[in-house]
Amino acid sequence: MIEENLRQVRENIAKAARESGREPGEITLIAVTKTHPPQMMNEAVHLGITDVGENKAQEVRDKYAQVEPVRWHLIGHLQRNKVKYIIDKVCMIHSVDSIELMDEIERQAEKHQKVMDILIQINISGEETKFGIEPQQLEALLEHAAGLKHVRIMGLMTIIPKTDDSITKRLHFDNMQRIFIDIQSKTYDNVHMKYLSMGMSGDYMDAIASGANMVRVGSAIFGKREYK
Ligand SMILES: *Cc1c(COP(=O)(O)O)cnc(C)c1O
Repeated sequence: MIEENLRQVRENIAKAARESGREPGEITLIAVTKTHPPQMMNEAVHLGITDVGENKAQEVRDKYAQVEPVRWHLIGHLQRNKVKYIIDKVCMIHSVDSIELMDEIERQAEKHQKVMDILIQINISGEETKFGIEPQQLEALLEHAAGLKHVRIMGLMTIIPKTDDSITKRLHFDNMQRIFIDIQSKTYDNVHMKYLSMGMSGDYMDAIASGANMVRVGSAIFGKREYK
C-alpha cells in the first residue's frame, strides 16, 4: 500500500512542480510518520524516503533508535522544555514561533556544538487555534537571528485550515509566497529564505503551485492515522 501511495504522491509532486516551472527534484517530500511504528517508517525509507516529519518531541525520542538513518524534521508545536530531547536528532525545526523558543534552541544547540536549521511558522489564515506568529511579528524574529550562532533561519512554514475550497487554499499559500519573496529581497544577518514548507495530504499540489519547496505528507502515504 505504501509503495503505490508513494508512487502517486511523487507523480503528483512532479506534475505540480513542472506546472510551476520547476524540476521535481527541487521539492523535498517529508513523509509525516506521526503515530506510525518504526517498521512502517523503515519500509518508507527502503522506498527512497530521505526525510521524515514528526509533530511531537516525545515520538522522535521513542522511535529514533529503531529507524534507519534518515533526516528527521520536527514539524509540530514544540515546548521549550522539550528542545533538549530532540536537539541531537532532528535536522530542522519547522515550528518556531517565538524568540524564547529560538533562544532555547540556541542554548541547546550550543551544548551539542551544532547549528540548528529552523523555519518560522506563520499563522497565515489568522485562525485562532493555530500556532504560529502573525506576519507582522516576523521582522522581530528575523532580526533576532542576527545575534545567534547556533541557530540559522532557513525559511518559513505554515499550516492552513482544512478546506475543500481551492481558491481559499491558494489565497493563503499565495500570501505566504509573497512574504517569502519579500524577505528574500531583503538582507537579514543569519537568515536564508531557502525553504517554504507548506502543503499536507489535502493540499500539497496547491502549495507547490504557490511556490512550496517542502511538503509534509502523511495520510496520503501511510493511510489514515489511528490515535490511541
Ligand atoms: C500531521 C501533519 C502533517 C501531515 O498531515 P496529513 O494530512 O496526514 O498529510 C503535516 N504537517 C504537520 C505540522 C502535521 O502535524
